Amino acid sequence: AEPALILSLNNVEVIYDHVSLAIKGVSIDVPQGAMVALLGANGAGKSTTLKSISGLLRPERGLVTRGEVQFLGQNIDALAPQERVKLGIVHVLEGRRVFEHMTPDENLVAASAVRGTRQDMLRNKDMVYSYFPRLHQRRTAQSGYLSGGEQQMLAIGRALMTQPKLLMLDEPSLGLAPFLVAEIFDIVRRINNEEGLSVLLVEQNAIAALEVVSHGYMIENGRVVMHDSAEAMKKNPDIQEFYLGGT
Ligand code: ATP
Repeated sequence: AEPALILSLNNVEVIYDHVSLAIKGVSIDVPQGAMVALLGANGAGKSTTLKSISGLLRPERGLVTRGEVQFLGQNIDALAPQERVKLGIVHVLEGRRVFEHMTPDENLVAASAVRGTRQDMLRNKDMVYSYFPRLHQRRTAQSGYLSGGEQQMLAIGRALMTQPKLLMLDEPSLGLAPFLVAEIFDIVRRINNEEGLSVLLVEQNAIAALEVVSHGYMIENGRVVMHDSAEAMKKNPDIQEFYLGGT
């Protein structure tokens, strides 16, 4: 039987430059097919947590010094980032990085899974365009001229080209108008529903994130301080204070 959890972090600790304790024993579970948010203020340790999962900590600087990351029941701590991508883990970094001198279409082709056939690539591209019709409209433009929202869509589209099982998004709402954030989150929610893709969403924008996820974790100073259903978290006075007073 398939394990019920796609992702499980067990007491993960990350130290930068031998001294700076960025996350101090973080435990997070993502059930298969779920959409889960990791919330918290600037510097709380959200990006570091994602990097411990995708393997994108630079070995000479950041190290997982304790705990373990399990993907589909397998400990992946020794795997290189590319091997984790092959297993189905994809990490969309903060700041929507796309190849600005290439068109959206070329960006998608370049991001395609190496092991796939040309047919797979074309099918994945059609899938991305079906969820992001705006990208299809702009497919021959230079990506550097896309709007911030379109670039975020392209960054997510590139991630989908790897045929992931777990999509991790770092602050996709950053710098975007609220209507665009709602549109993008809505599309991610539909992909989650229709493709069965599990999603771990890192956000400072707790209001928007809690509208689309089923569960959330709140991280503060490198520790999980709250874990609950999205409904319960929306009603929580600490969260309300955080997102009314925060950012
Ligand atoms: P942000 O939204 O700013 O990315 P975050 O919640 O994702 O915030 P992290 O980026 O994970 O937080 O940072 C957690 C802690 O680790 C912070 O104190 C930060 O200063 C420190 N840190 C992050 N990256 C590095 C690094 N490459 N080298 C040293 N310290 C780092």
